[in-house]
Amino acid sequence: MEHVQGRAVKVTGCLFEPPGTASFDKESLLLHRDQETVVLLNRFPYTNAHLLVAPLRHIASITDLSAKEGASLMSMLSTATAIVKQELKPDGFNVGCNLGETAGAGIADHLHFHIVPRWNGDHNFMTVLSEVRAIPEHLLATFDRLLPLFQQLSCRKEEGK
Ligand SMILES: [Zn+2]
Repeated sequence: MEHVQGRAVKVTGCLFEPPGTASFDKESLLLHRDQETVVLLNRFPYTNAHLLVAPLRHIASITDLSAKEGASLMSMLSTATAIVKQELKPDGFNVGCNLGETAGAGIADHLHFHIVPRWNGDHNFMTVLSEVRAIPEHLLATFDRLLPLFQQLSCRKEEGK
């Protein structure tokens, strides 16, 4: 609807580098940003709560990750999966990345992992979802559901410093 009304956010620059330094931003669908990783809700999801986890640094491949970045990325993949599991109780997940346009990467120049929660019988669900995937309210409702859990994560990290 927002797209129709022309109020959609114009994404300039790299999708995985939302402007500013805030730990979250609803307009960018940014759920979490820390020193090394970002977590975004995919604006064009395959299923509900389809997340994208990326390193903060603009690099194209897993072979470009430093050891520290790799460890942070894997840790965030685990944490984000746990959050979706807790909140939406899927029956399984597809977690992975596409390296290069040939392999299906929509944005090939900034490495990102997909976390796609799966439910038993979600082929039907996905058919239904494909009908409604452009409705931003659906995305924003999911964003509002997941954000508090990611914010707890930020708080825990700050307390741990
Ligand atoms: Zn980038």
